[in-house]
Amino acid sequence: MKTIKVSDNWKFFAQGNANILLESPHKYSGKLLRLKKKGPPSTQIFQFYEQKVVPLIGNFVAKLELVRLESQFAAYANLICEEHSRGPIAGQEVSAQIYPDFISDKEYGLLIERVGHDSTENGPSSLATTATTTTIKSADSQEGAGGGLGAVLHKTVYQMNDSRDPVTLYSNYILEFKPKWLAPSPNAPGDAVRCRNCALGLYRTGKEPAFCRADLTSSNYNLRFQAIKCIFGSFTADESRSEGVVSSITTAEAALLTELTAQFLDQCDILNQLKTVQARDTRGILDYGPDEELGDEFLMAMTFRDATILLEIAHYDSSMTETQSSANNNNDSGKDTEKTESGYLTLDRGGDKYYVRAKLVDLDMKQASRRDRWAKTERELLKYYK
Ligand SMILES: [Zn+2]
Repeated sequence: MKTIKVSDNWKFFAQGNANILLESPHKYSGKLLRLKKKGPPSTQIFQFYEQKVVPLIGNFVAKLELVRLESQFAAYANLICEEHSRGPIAGQEVSAQIYPDFISDKEYGLLIERVGHDSTENGPSSLATTATTTTIKSADSQEGAGGGLGAVLHKTVYQMNDSRDPVTLYSNYILEFKPKWLAPSPNAPGDAVRCRNCALGLYRTGKEPAFCRADLTSSNYNLRFQAIKCIFGSFTADESRSEGVVSSITTAEAALLTELTAQFLDQCDILNQLKTVQARDTRGILDYGPDEELGDEFLMAMTFRDATILLEIAHYDSSMTETQSSANNNNDSGKDTEKTESGYLTLDRGGDKYYVRAKLVDLDMKQASRRDRWAKTERELLKYYK
């Protein structure tokens, strides 16, 4: 097992409620270090992942590696978090004293595969002098409200600024999105006209959602295409956005990303496999008596109903790709082979090559202690299915 050291020069990357992510691009390129702020320790998460998640859908999940933290590391990581927290969070100053101790698991952490990274390691982007990332939230991104899309698009442009006009070498989009319940709830009535997501959206917001997530795995190509179009359409500028000026993509970009994603999902089975593992729960929470232990199929399905898909679409400027391949002539294993090995599908559009792949993340074990809340929601939803 690797030991993570202070001398690896870690930096803050991102954080959520239960985890904090650090990066060390020179020592651990293509990886992020995930440390626990609360919840089950990393060893337990790793065990769950290896024993339960990987056997079910291993091809499509980001790789995890359990690592030991050297003795001073937790204190060091705490300092990194403290420094980060002193900055303004959500528009207000937050004192570090509010969080006296960030790291709950001081012995172990997880190295996780950084989606959207290995395509940038040796490609034309290694020639880039600047990388600019824009994070765009979907117009209706109130994930907490239940009815929202809650999608995020990260767009990174790698440029070379040596000349007077910057040259774009490579651009990369990462769509972050929760497909939610692709398989119907076993507790939904037989004559339901709405899927679980649409019923929840209607219940929480009083409105029909913009599109049906279950359409993403429909056998009807047109329904799938329209659902994908809705996702990317939510990143184009829209006057109905409440937070004033926000970054967006152009309608032409949205159309291109929609087509590439539709083409990718025609060839990659990731969403159908996600649906299949969700459908292993045939009972649903309402079929369990109050004192009956929740089945493994049910808890696993809850994990997969909350998965996030990271879809990466990378594009090399074709002239740069030629330069790069002639520069790489000594290396017999061509770029395409390398892409295939890391799970990319190569899509060709008018001579332009796009590399597309998808991974599932956020596959954490769900705690049975939440069963009352799950049952309450499911009971409320019964009247929203039709
Ligand atoms: Zn639906």
